[in-house]
Amino acid sequence: MPARVGILAIQGDVEAHATALAAAGAEAVQVLREKDLDGLAGLILPGGESTTISKGMDRLGLWEPVREFAASGRPVLGTCAGAILLARETVHHPVPTLGLLDAVAVRNAYGTQVDSFAAPVDPGARHDLEGLRCVFIRAPQLEQLGPGVEVYARVDGRPVLVRQANLWAATFHPELTADPRIHQLLLPPPGQLT
Ligand code: GLN
Repeated sequence: MPARVGILAIQGDVEAHATALAAAGAEAVQVLREKDLDGLAGLILPGGESTTISKGMDRLGLWEPVREFAASGRPVLGTCAGAILLARETVHHPVPTLGLLDAVAVRNAYGTQVDSFAAPVDPGARHDLEGLRCVFIRAPQLEQLGPGVEVYARVDGRPVLVRQANLWAATFHPELTADPRIHQLLLPPPGQLT
């Protein structure tokens, strides 16, 4: 049976993540209520607009259920706005966050001049991520990383994929390239029962 992976479906790049999960061999489940989290192997907080997603979290009462999901040790991947929502703090139009990832997220950190761009990760990326191409759309930057936060990939020397135990944060949009490697990080190794 394919692993079932949730996508927080309040706003943002939900469909593209579902397609990417299917390509990585997982079943995508849209999450809008606490009970949607039952039985999931992992959870994606998609890119979009963190202010809107944060308001939806308030409205749907999802802050604590998502924190509990993360505390269960199952993998959680936040991409772009989702990475902002994981952070302990945000700067530039601060938004309420889950406060789980020991990092500060600087929103729209690339400014208006380079709103959107694509770039390969720097050589020396971890875990077979060499050659990964990253699409950035009004992307944040992650700063002041705590000691438990490991950098897996950088672009121009800045961290773009980090991990803290079961939490993953990507400042780019892995669902917009055909490369399944980031979504595969959420899946159990082949051969392991889900
Ligand atoms: N700029 C958006 C924010 O601050 C994030 C952009 C994105 O997710 N592509 O919420």
